[in-house]
Amino acid sequence: MSDETKIILPESELPTAWYNVLPDLPTPLPPPLDPQTHKPVSPDMLSAIFPPALIEQEMSQERWIPIPEEVREIYKLWRPSPLVRAHRLEKALGTRARIYYKNESVSPAGSHKPNTSVPQAYYNMKAGTRRLATETGAGQWGTALSFACQMFGMACTVYMVRVSYDAKPYRGILIRTYGAEVFPSPSDKTQAGRAALVENPDNPGSLGLAISEAVEDAATHADTNYALGSVLNHVILHQTVTGLETKKQLAMVGETPDVLIGCVGGGSNFGGLVCPFVPDKLAGSKVRFVAAEPQACPTLTRGEYRYDYGDVAGLTPLLKMHTLGHGFYPPAIHAGGLRYHGDAPIVCSLAKDGLVEAKAYYQKEVFEAGRIFLQSEGFLPAPETTHAIAAAIEEARDAPEGKVIVLLYSGHGMLDLAAYDAYLRGDLENYAYPDAAIKKALESCPKVDGF
Ligand SMILES: *Cc1c(COP(=O)(O)O)cnc(C)c1O
Repeated sequence: MSDETKIILPESELPTAWYNVLPDLPTPLPPPLDPQTHKPVSPDMLSAIFPPALIEQEMSQERWIPIPEEVREIYKLWRPSPLVRAHRLEKALGTRARIYYKNESVSPAGSHKPNTSVPQAYYNMKAGTRRLATETGAGQWGTALSFACQMFGMACTVYMVRVSYDAKPYRGILIRTYGAEVFPSPSDKTQAGRAALVENPDNPGSLGLAISEAVEDAATHADTNYALGSVLNHVILHQTVTGLETKKQLAMVGETPDVLIGCVGGGSNFGGLVCPFVPDKLAGSKVRFVAAEPQACPTLTRGEYRYDYGDVAGLTPLLKMHTLGHGFYPPAIHAGGLRYHGDAPIVCSLAKDGLVEAKAYYQKEVFEAGRIFLQSEGFLPAPETTHAIAAAIEEARDAPEGKVIVLLYSGHGMLDLAAYDAYLRGDLENYAYPDAAIKKALESCPKVDGF
């Protein structure tokens, strides 16, 4: 163990392959199902909106998948990212633990999301796709995809939920400056959007509606595909670049992690950090994986493990995952992000098999954790990231001498200051999503025979 603050890998140590956990999962992953027939989805069905390479990665049983040289060249703009020893946070907490954070906020878009937006744009470009369409809620994914499309000379169309578009103008400006087009959803660009506008010209939009618009756009234009920023297997595959680097960085300073922590929205930053450590855990390592989520959207801690639609509109294949029901609607008072009703099937399968522990936090405690981090380490974490920090602080409390805690710092909060403002003004309330509402939303889940 050394006392170094920033543990930096040379560029030559940037991983050359992603790690695919699928062949190493203790239980084989239940397949995605056709929403109508409930039969496993065929690769053909997916080819209307995804390029062949990504469909192959989604189902691959190969343990290592080479990272294309063109993708590694772009990764080098910010990768390998630093692993940082949080000396000052340790001191502020008075802990005997050693806390490290893997800093993914140094990417151009400011979060871990370019780790997958870049390869997704690349494989689409290779397949002749001229344009990508996607939805974005808070705007992080739209930003990451517009950056990636710009790198490969592709067009990009982002459908951004209207309430966020109006409330968070800076994300939209950033997306447009990257050269993409961004429309508040519902828009007049698609049938789904026009129908919603006829019904209510002041429709505030929803993530489900924005997904419908992006998927329709991709399905009705031959040169256009769809891209998803979390949940799917290929997204977690691309995110393993963070866990692989972390492993090398810990080894450089002679550390063995006791606990790895990430926040969970759709599960991609958490999955990317922990998956490369799954073989160690199965071989007897005592490392623990802790997933941190909001009490307002308690998917892993209180959702049911069953098949559900990936989107609110019920258009996507059915995925087996911990779900609050696709009709789940996050309460307006919740400021911390991580609002998705389900979670990545890979993360859910690991949780089901007891490899992942989940913890849920109230929003006042996560913003308090964000403030402690800012005042000790100096960097402003994204509201999502503060969930992982809150879990790390909890792990550090009463820790034995030399406990090694590693968290994934998923993004910065420089465009989320309105949420911190609400916290400072005392406008945030602690809110746990009620059990009765979860039960009700779960009634809308499809009944799938044989699973
Ligand atoms: C999107 C996002 C998340 C949540 O997504 P996951 O797929 O769960 O990783 C977390 N942190 C930041 C900064 C994000 O932009």
